[in-house]
Amino acid sequence: MPYPLMLSPLDLGFTTLANRVIMGSMHTNLEEQENGFEKLAAFYAERAAGGVGLIITGGIAPNEAGKLAYNRGTFSHQEQVPEHQLVTQAVHQYNTKICLQILHAGRYGHHGSPVAPSAIQSPITPFPPKALTSDEVEQQLHDFVQCAKLAQQAGYDGVEIMGSEGYLINQFICPRTNHRDDQWGGTFANRIRFPLEVVRRIRAELGEAFILIFRISLLDLVEQGNDFDETLALAKALDQAGTNILNTGIGWHESRIPTIASMVPRGAFVEVTAKLRQHLSIPIVACNRINAPDVAEQILVDQQADLISMARPLLADSQFVSKSAAAQAQRINTCIACNQACLDNIFLSKVASCLVNPQAAHETEICFTPTALPKRIAVLGAGAAGVMFAIFAAQRGHRITLFEAGKQIGGQLKLAAKIPGKQEFSQFIRYMKVMLEEHGVEVKLESKPLASELTGFDDIVVATGTRAVMPDIEGLNDPKVVSYQDVINGRVVPGKRVVIIGSGGIAFDVASKLLAGSEADTIEAFAKHWGIDLENEQPGGLQAQQPLVSKHHITMLQRKVRKPGAGLGKTTVWIHREELKRHGVKYLSAVQYKKVTEQGLLVEIRQQEKLLEADTIIICAGQQQNLPDQLETLSIPVHFIGGARQSAGINAQRAIEEAAELAKDI
Ligand code: SF4
Repeated sequence: MPYPLMLSPLDLGFTTLANRVIMGSMHTNLEEQENGFEKLAAFYAERAAGGVGLIITGGIAPNEAGKLAYNRGTFSHQEQVPEHQLVTQAVHQYNTKICLQILHAGRYGHHGSPVAPSAIQSPITPFPPKALTSDEVEQQLHDFVQCAKLAQQAGYDGVEIMGSEGYLINQFICPRTNHRDDQWGGTFANRIRFPLEVVRRIRAELGEAFILIFRISLLDLVEQGNDFDETLALAKALDQAGTNILNTGIGWHESRIPTIASMVPRGAFVEVTAKLRQHLSIPIVACNRINAPDVAEQILVDQQADLISMARPLLADSQFVSKSAAAQAQRINTCIACNQACLDNIFLSKVASCLVNPQAAHETEICFTPTALPKRIAVLGAGAAGVMFAIFAAQRGHRITLFEAGKQIGGQLKLAAKIPGKQEFSQFIRYMKVMLEEHGVEVKLESKPLASELTGFDDIVVATGTRAVMPDIEGLNDPKVVSYQDVINGRVVPGKRVVIIGSGGIAFDVASKLLAGSEADTIEAFAKHWGIDLENEQPGGLQAQQPLVSKHHITMLQRKVRKPGAGLGKTTVWIHREELKRHGVKYLSAVQYKKVTEQGLLVEIRQQEKLLEADTIIICAGQQQNLPDQLETLSIPVHFIGGARQSAGINAQRAIEEAAELAKDI
């Protein structure tokens, strides 16, 4: 059997998990939609059908004060039980358990009345919290227990208590946010009283045959966080209090260290889990950036953890476990850790989805049902839009021929995969190749058909993407002016002083490529770079960041007056800005480009001329549609998707969403 440990059951005494894969908690925003629980039931049922052992729902607040945002749900009333039953019944059609995560946001509540152990405002929310009185602390405990009771009535197999990521329970545990001098604050024993009471009271109320998971913060990654000895003491006390499984969390949300983004190496934090596991007898879960079955299996082989939590990888591929069990890892649609369609959507109050799998959390809306009218469809362009359209449409029974002018499929994804920290994009290209073959798509590389050669098709889909905009600047033919493609592909080696025209996503990628260290993707280098003490001997697991030596002096320019990288996703843009700031990258806005000179680039900024000395000038000035000629002469339907439809704001997420929309209807 492939992955024998990952696929082995876990006996909890009163119940058994089918395997060691947990779908970690991830909010989808579905609950807040019309018929949201039906959609949520379909979302989780799809993952249960794919064989995951245990699902933990997105966080639900036990009361109004604990909500993460004004529009987020609570589970506090009997009348809410039936809607949750839709979810548990859907999941229990399969051999999968499901636990409700109880999440009290505390001072992270993005609404008018957050509460916290002490009245200390978080740096990432605009709302000052009210300090809980002793009676109100008791009320929170009561509400946690009430929520767990309702969960049991709704058919959940258990609950997970969210005790990490800087939410209320974490706020009680750490001196950073707990300045109380009553029995809930002060000494360590007092600060951990709240989580222990939550666990003890739920266990006492609901009995032994109910899964109780506690998500502990392994590394707080903020000042005045816990150190290893405190974390261990808490873990042991939680075990004693009645916890069945210890899940783990890394970093408070206000931490300025990336913990799940693509530049975090796979399995970066497993070492800390392993260190804690040595001292414990209850099962412990490894989390963060584990997205492949071989990585999961190795963690279990090395006895670093007992279970593996994957949230985003199960958005990317609901059949992760079943494909692993069938020894078909090459068929897994791997989560590339981009955060674009999942977490960034949540921050925009949209329903979460997945860049590589637009059906995720849209199971009832995006369905590739077999067509009654198979067509012959020509797809022009094998970037993300063209390839994914070809796969989706072929899945429905259409006969697809995919034409690509270049030597390989992948389009802009090929460039993305060459950016340090974005190498996971190559996994998506691998998946696309496997699926094209599986679905019998005819792929014609180095092929740019004339309109006259397309007359035998029923429909044409134009997915030819974009090409770089060349700004109108005098002297642009100077040899020191180069394209971003040449830099990313390594065809030119930029000099010491670099000016980048543009401050969007591609400009950030180019700067990252130029500034990256040679060993930046090892776990050790990552930890040193960001100042993480993986032994957690220092409070919060922080240590001094490694000083950086920059190979280039970079200046990024933009015409507009706005923050650089304004179009990038909220959950990752701060990382890129922080990174470039540490490297001393300068940004100039409101720039008018005058001319390229022998010394560099002459610009005008707020009526002042300025010469920016440069050895290399890299053009990242945006994209324009790249359209084939003569299609208007055809009398068959022509559809445009991705950058070929609209270049402004194009990215892989939108391109693939458009591909899916067209494929489901064509
Ligand atoms: Fe993973 Fe990106 Fe999909 Fe989120 S959107 S699940 S990070 S691939």
